[in-house]
Formats: sequence, structure tokens, C-alpha cells
Amino acid sequence: MSFDPSLAARLQRARGILARSDRVAAFSGAGLSAESGLPTFRDNETDALWSRYDPIELASVEGFLANPERVIEWYNWRRSRYAAVKPNAAHRALAGQPRMIQITQNVDHLLEQAGVAADQVDHLHGSILHDRCHAGDCDYREIIDPDNPLALRACPRCGEPMRPAVVWFGENLPQTTWLRAQQLCMSLDCLLVVGTSATVYPAAGLIELARQHDSRVIVIDPNPGAAGNQADVYLAGAAGEVLPALLDGFDLATAS
Ligand code: NAD
Repeated sequence: MSFDPSLAARLQRARGILARSDRVAAFSGAGLSAESGLPTFRDNETDALWSRYDPIELASVEGFLANPERVIEWYNWRRSRYAAVKPNAAHRALAGQPRMIQITQNVDHLLEQAGVAADQVDHLHGSILHDRCHAGDCDYREIIDPDNPLALRACPRCGEPMRPAVVWFGENLPQTTWLRAQQLCMSLDCLLVVGTSATVYPAAGLIELARQHDSRVIVIDPNPGAAGNQADVYLAGAAGEVLPALLDGFDLATAS
């Protein structure tokens, strides 16, 4: 790949930071999976069927209670897209660092498909490949086959509706996962921030948390956005091009 001179210089600075870091973790968003063919949330959805709906109607408890069939249908449509995509070079570059923890906002499992061990991935916003009971006091869950997702149905344990096991707007993050991510970000030497607009809280607050605890921050994203403003080094470019060059030759770890 050919870098412009300023990007090449910044890449060298970023590699210098990594070389001096004992504890490194990655924090990713939808941009990590963009080159696999999954649109980010700020991209214009081209599918006419869904583009007329506000995300809030499709990704909130209010939207689900108002029209559960529509919400399930939308998620099943997204699942069919997931079934058709594969990890890209950025997922594979991160998977090449098996001792590094991946904190991700993505509900897909492309990091795991690229080879990252499941216990090395903190899914802050849940998993689109699972359903769970909507009742707060019922912990019934099921794995979903994205090729054959199920229609709206009742929980076999308590009778409340089943729903995707993702975090919707206004909902709490899974507490154990969130606590682990926060603790991690308080003890890093470097946080790699990949493909996130860093606008959805509380997850986006991890970048500031890491900085407050003396971590360096390297941001990889074609658009600087809110994350780029917090970067020690901002690498403008697609994750699938920048990450392999950035991580080549390293054996990074989160726990020293
Ligand atoms: P985002 O869409 O807000 O931002 C994606 C980022 O990826 C952008 O900064 C973009 O410049 C960057 N990008 C695009 N292509 C890239 C590439 N090839 N390489 C690197 N970066 C690239 O996504 P986000 O930050 O992950 O959003 C946060 C969370 O918001 C999501 O995880 C989701 O939970 C939630 N959300 C959900 C919905 C929904 O369900 N409808 C809608 C909005 C937000």
C-alpha cells in the first residue's frame, strides 16, 4: 500500500508508542466491519424498506413495545446481512494480537470469526447472534442462526417476548462487561481506537477514561470525528489498510 508522507510519519510515531507500551487494548466501532460490507450507523442506508425509519424506532424499548414485529423483522434483515459477510483485513490484523483484549461496540462476531478468542472480546452493546427474553428478571437466552432467524415469539420460560440480545438506546450496558472495560481502560499504556464516531455514551467515554489514566490514544478512522480530537496520533484511513501496517511485527498484550 502507498501512504502519503504525513501518514507514513504518523504511522511511525504510532508504532513508537506501541513499542513502548506494555498494556494495549483495542476499542472498536462499526467502521471496523465497514470493509466487510456492513454499513456503519452514520452511512446512508440504501435499503428503501428501512431507510424511512428512525433508528430510535428500531433500536429502543419504546420502538419494540410499539411495534415488536417490525423491530424483529429489521433485526432479522440485519442478521441476513451478517450471514453473508466475512472478517476483513482489520479484523485479521487484530486477531494477530491474541494477547490483546478487544473492547467493541459491534454486535457482530467478525472478530471471533477472524480468530479472536471469545473471552478476549468485550461486547459492550451485546450480540446480534443471540436472542434474550425481554423481561428484566428472566435470563433466558438463545443462539440465533442468522440464515434462519426466528420471528417474534414468547419466551418458553416466562411468556414475555423474545428480542435481540443487543443494547438499545436508553438501556444499560451489560454490567460485568462494562466494568471490565472500564477497569481495563484505567490501566493501559495505549488504547487503539478503530472506526467509531465516539458519539454514543457511555461507551465513547472509555477514550477519555483511558486518557485520564495516562494512556496514549491512537485513532484509526477516515474521519477524525470526536475520537480524533482525543488522539495522540490520528491515522486517517481505512482500518483494513492501516491496521495491518500499524500492527505488523508486534506481539501486543493487555496484561503484562
Ligand atoms: P458510527 O456509525 O457512529 O461510526 C462509524 C465510524 O467508522 C465513523 O467514524 C466512520 O468514519 C468510521 N469508518 C467508516 N469506514 C471505516 C473504515 N473502513 N475503517 C475505519 N473506520 C471507518 O458507529 P459506532 O461509533 O460504532 O456507533 C456506536 C454505537 O451506536 C453502535 O455500536 C450502536 O450500538 C449504536 N447505534 C446503533 C444504531 C442502530 O442500531 N440503528 C444507530 C446508531 C448508533
